[in-house]
Parts: sequence; C-alpha cells; structure tokens
Amino acid sequence: MIRERAYPVEPWHVRETRLDLDVLAQSESVFALSNGHIGLRGNLDEGDPHGLPGTYLNSFFELRPLPYAEAGYGFPESGQTIVNVSNGKLIRLLVDDEPFDVRYGELVNHERVLDLRAGTLQRCVEWHSPAGRAVRVRSTRLVSFTQRSVAAIEYRVEPLSGPMRLIVQSELVANEQLPSQSRDPRVAAVLESPLRAEERLVHSDGGLLIHRTKASGLRLAAQMSHEVYGPERKLIGTEAYEDWARTTVTCVLRPGEELRVVKYVAYGWSSRRSRPALRDQVGAAIAGARFSGWEGLCAEQRHYLDNFWDDSDVRVEGDPEVQQAVRFGLFHVLQAGARAELRPISAKGLTGPGYDGHAFWDTEQFVLPVLTYTLPSAVASALRWRHSTLHLAQERAKTLGLNGAAFPWRTIRGQETSAYWPAGTAGFHIAADIADAVRRYVLASGDTQFEREVGLELLVETARLWRSLGHHDRHGRFHIDGVTGPDEYTAVKNDNVYTNLMAQRNLLAAADAATRYGEEAWRLGVDDEETASWRDAAADMYVPWDEELKVHPQVEGFTRYQEWDFVGTPPDQYPLLLNYPYFDLYRKQVVKQADLVLAMHWRGDAFTDEEKASNFAYYERRTVRDSSLSACTQAVLAAEVGQLELAHDYLGEAALMDLHDLNQNTRDGVHVASLAGAWIALVAGFGGLRDHDDVLCFKPRLPSRIDRLEFSLRWRTVHLRVDVRQHEVTYALRDSDHPDAVMELTHHGELVRVTCDDPVTLPVPPMRPTGPQPAQPDGRAPVRRATESEP
Ligand code: BGC
Repeated sequence: MIRERAYPVEPWHVRETRLDLDVLAQSESVFALSNGHIGLRGNLDEGDPHGLPGTYLNSFFELRPLPYAEAGYGFPESGQTIVNVSNGKLIRLLVDDEPFDVRYGELVNHERVLDLRAGTLQRCVEWHSPAGRAVRVRSTRLVSFTQRSVAAIEYRVEPLSGPMRLIVQSELVANEQLPSQSRDPRVAAVLESPLRAEERLVHSDGGLLIHRTKASGLRLAAQMSHEVYGPERKLIGTEAYEDWARTTVTCVLRPGEELRVVKYVAYGWSSRRSRPALRDQVGAAIAGARFSGWEGLCAEQRHYLDNFWDDSDVRVEGDPEVQQAVRFGLFHVLQAGARAELRPISAKGLTGPGYDGHAFWDTEQFVLPVLTYTLPSAVASALRWRHSTLHLAQERAKTLGLNGAAFPWRTIRGQETSAYWPAGTAGFHIAADIADAVRRYVLASGDTQFEREVGLELLVETARLWRSLGHHDRHGRFHIDGVTGPDEYTAVKNDNVYTNLMAQRNLLAAADAATRYGEEAWRLGVDDEETASWRDAAADMYVPWDEELKVHPQVEGFTRYQEWDFVGTPPDQYPLLLNYPYFDLYRKQVVKQADLVLAMHWRGDAFTDEEKASNFAYYERRTVRDSSLSACTQAVLAAEVGQLELAHDYLGEAALMDLHDLNQNTRDGVHVASLAGAWIALVAGFGGLRDHDDVLCFKPRLPSRIDRLEFSLRWRTVHLRVDVRQHEVTYALRDSDHPDAVMELTHHGELVRVTCDDPVTLPVPPMRPTGPQPAQPDGRAPVRRATESEP
C-alpha cells in the first residue's frame, strides 16, 4: 500500500522523490499516460525492474474461453482480455558496459513528476554504476492528446564523471513476459504470448513490427523512429526480429556533453485493415509527429490541456490534498475518455489490466456525468460506441427472451463477458444508466443531431427491455423482479429501488423522445400504443417502502433480512467478497456499495427530504464500501442531509483512492469511477448540482475546512462558473460567441437568471443536519479529514 503522503501535496503535480520498489506497480498506474486510445503504464524507461509492464490500445483484446464447471443456458461463452501490446517505451542504457538498473550501483537521486498541465511524465535520476561511473538521466514522456496514435519520449543522458562510453538501446518489444496471475478474480487473466508476428521492417531511424492476435484476429502495427543529438561521432543502427526491434546509439561523452534521443512511437490497429494499410497508417502517424517535432508535440499538449483546465478546473481552498487529488482525478478521467472515439471508457482507463480492461456501468453513471459538463464531445463519442454495439445488445436480449437491448455488464467489444450471471447479466440497470447518460448529455449539450441519430434509439431499445422484463401485478403495480442493483452483495432480488426508479425515468425519457421525433420513432416501429405502455409502466412503477421503519428497503423485503455481524467481522476480512460466500452476503443486510443511496442521488426527485435523511442513516450503518464506487455517492447524500463533515471525509476517500492506494489494488490500474467521483462529490455534494430536468439546480454548502470551492460547467453554449464560499455563492456566465446568452438555474430552490454581464451573488442559507446521526459499520468509518489528515 502506498503510505499516506507518498506524493507531496502540490496543486498541479504528482511528484515522487524516492523510488520504492515495493510499490512500483502502484506508481506505474498513478503515472500512467493515456489519451483514451493509447495507454502507457508508468514503467521505468529501461523496463527493469517493473511491477507490471503495460502498453494498451483501446479495444485491442484477445478472446479467451470462459470455462464453467456447470454450464447453463445463456452463459457467455467467451471472455475478452485487454492485451499488453508491443512496448515502445523501452529505452535501455549501458554506461561503460554496465546496464543502467536502479537495483545495482547507487541511485543517488530519483524524481518522477506527473505534470497535470503539461500532460507529461518527467523523470530525473542520478545514478552511479557499480564501477563508480556517474550519470544523470532525464526523460520526458507524453501520449499525445492532439495526435491520437502517437506517443513520444525525450531521453537525455549526461556523464557526471570523466568521459564514458554510452550505449542507448531503444526498443519495441512484443509478447513481454507478464507476472503470474493472482487469485483475485478482479485481476486480469494473463495471456501467454497473445501476439503472432506478421511483419518486421528496419528503417534508417527505427523499425516497425506488425502482429496479430491469435483468436480475436486483431492486427496491430507499432513503429518507432528516432532523432539523435550528441557528439559528432556516434554509431546508429537498427535491427528487427519477430518480437522485437532495436535501435542502438553508441557514443563517447565527456562531462558537459549530452546525448539526447527523441523517440516517436505510433500505434495502429484494426480488425479489418490489411497489413499494408496499417503499415502506412503508423508511417503517417510518425511523419505527423516528426513534423511537429518534440517541442511541437509538447506545445500542442500544453495547449490542449490549457483549454481543458480552462473549461473544467475545480479549485478547492482549505484542503490542498483534495485540491491535488481532484485535479489528478480529472486528469485521469480526461486521459480515459479524451480520444477514445467510438471505443469504450473502461473501469481502469488504459492504466492497467485490472478487470481485464472491461467497461462497466462505471462509464455512464460516474465518468460521463463529469465529462458531460467538462468535455461533452467525449460523452457523445462514448455513447455512440454503445450505440455501435446495439445489435449485440439486441441479440443478447433475444437470447434472454426479452425485447429491446440488454447491454453487457462488462465488455470490451460489446458482447456480455461476465461469467458470473448474478452480478453480470442480472445487473440490468446498466440499460437505465445508459439511457440516463443520453438524457443528461442531450439536456446539457442541446445536441439534437445526436439525439435524433443515436439517443432516440438507445432510449427506445432500453425502454423496450424494461417493458418486457417487468410486469404488472393484479393490483396494477409494475414490478421488475429478479435483478441485481448496484449493491453486488444483494443479488437477483425483486424491485430494486434504484433499478425501478431509473427504469421509470428511462421509460418516460423514451416516450418523450419518441414524441419529439415522431417520424424517426415510427421508423423504429414505435407507435402510440407502445409509448402509452411505457408511460403506464412508469406511472405504475412499484417502489417498496417499510412503513414501520420509515425507510425504503433497497429491494423488496431487505429490511427484514438478518443483520450482518459487523462486530464479529475482523478488519482483515474486507473486502467481504474475498472472504465470505456469496450466498451469505446475499441473504443479509450488508451493502457493498451505495445502492438506495445512489437512487437518492440520481433520482433525488423521487424522495422527500425526510426520507433522504432516514434512508441515509439506515444504509450508512450497513454499507461497507467494498467497492470504490461508493464513497463519492455517500459524500453527495451526506452533504444533502447536512452531514457536511462526513461528506468531506467521503470526498477524501474517493479522491485519494489511488494516490493513497486505499483499496490496495491500484497496481492493476487506477479507479476511474472513483476519481470521477471526486468531482461528483465536490460539484454534486458541496455544489449541490442536480440535473433532474432542464433547469440545473444548485444547493451549495461547504464543510468547515473548505473555505472556497470554484468549479465550471459547460451548458449548451455557455460556461457557468460557480464560486462557493462559506456564506455566499457567485454564479458567472461566459459565452464568447453569444454575449447576450442567459442561463436560468435554481439556487436553493429559487429561480435565478444569470447573464454574461451580470454575475449573481447570493447568500448560502444556514442548515442544520437532518435525521438521525449516521454511523458506519464497525471499523468502516471513512478517515476523518478534519483531524487525521491535518499536516
Ligand atoms: C463494483 C461494480 C463496478 C466494478 C468495476 C465492482 O467491484 O461492484 O459496481 O462496476 O467493480 O469498477
């Protein structure tokens, strides 16, 4: 586990000043660079030592069998696992015959810096070889946001003692040996040599490798090219074999001289394109990168990020650790989605092999709400990817005997690949999560073309799923039985409140969209009878209620289940899924992650204030947060019911998930949903943002230690800046193309009009916490931000 404060608190950097080999794999995830298309783990340039080598391309996967001890009808037959592709990060160094390897000799200085504004990972080390030769190595790495197929590295070596012979070997290596598989089911299945060589080429300044996966038949081309600056006399040569290509630079340097190598790496992959086509594609990407040059790529990167931060930065005064973490989180969210372009945004982004590289509902329910208000184009593209898999979801629905589309619980390419159906297939709520992401994106962006082309069909097909999955009982109530909600410790149950309420909104959104786009809906076979049946189901949707306890059971009957013995559960038995049988978890009142509480966030319009307070307290006592998708939602609801300090604690947990390796699995990749959750906790929690209909609502209120919170949202053509202080809030508008733009919003229930000329400042009404004082299960309270983390 990364000890607290492994990285000094700084507003715009994540800095490592000491190399701790025990947590190398964790730091490789934290320092991973990606643009949503290419992902490079933060492996050391020289490759060794490593925690987990990793180079990924979005959706480049291999198929693997899903063996079942007892097969059943409708079980997915084949799994998909992200492949570690040809590693173009490798740059080895020999100092007078001795390989630069931090485990030998003496590492006198070490620093790595993830620069959130420059979009680079810099490294600076001073190393003394076992024979006492001293060198300084500086490298800077980037994965370009502007040229999506390109990564580049600037590598500089200086001798610090006497003249020395330096040999730099820059490589592309396919089929790297990976560490053996752990017993944790969440960890990727390791695939032995998944790539078959098809072609290799040597160029004057680098080389190219083309490979193909054995079962999924995907083809991959990787090319490297170098610029070398150094003493006049140097030898440069490249060789290539089936699984590796190597460019070697040899020279002698004196103190005061420097060898500088700029390495450009380009990747391309396809399931259809021919070898020559892919070869040309990466050749062109290299040409583009060389045309920009190293300085040009860095300038483009900075410019891209300047724009992003200008639109999206969140400023937090009073808690510098959270300030750093929320920017780190936004950076990783951006990295996961920026250039995904019609490909999924997976739970780990492209930072590690965790969860086999699969995308889950994490995307629609945690990541897309953030991107909707910060980088809406990435949302359109992620939802267009879902839409491109619609035929597979329709097929899956048919297999399950249902209408419409049953989207997969976990996937890379669109097919269901969860081998555990109670927490996979039964998690039907993903359909409503997708529908809600469509609704939110259309509301916030006003993108009617998207709505017509993509949104409508996603809404219609998901509504059809609910209509066929649910049924009216003899009293006319609509039930959705036998499903699993967000809480994976309560599975295959009737009337999960979250699912029912989200499905209700899905059905209504589909009916409304079908009315707006009559002709297009008609072409999808929707008629008035069908929309009326959706409205009926929505109107009759059953929501269980426990009159005695005055709380909502998260599924029918939940509040009468046996209580979990939290006192008798030792701390080292968490996460419970690794230490207790599912059958026991399923029949007791123990909640893995926010479920009913999540319903109160995204369907807050369906609950009264009193219900929110009593539900929140009830589920707090039973929620163990064995998933990283929980803390942010608990923060949002804690803030809403006035438990602002508790909300601050949960915010800290969501935000520091990876910087502090809180779940001890950051080695497999960062937790993109939790990092997005830091933004959600701040903006929906302390900003009180709700987007239930077409007027944004805010109820800002800060905890005692945060003096000021500033965030921006994109809404249609405008940028709204919200500046929250303890006692007042200012709403300001910016719209360079429409200076007369007006935005209506509500502030603590009061309708407010904001124009570009007139920022509006309003008081924050005082509030006392409502409802019972929340307490958590034994040993599961979040770390207090007000005390433990004081510097
Ligand atoms: C959570 C799911 C989540 C998945 C991927 C699981 O532990 O329970 O809700 O989708 O992780 O992040």
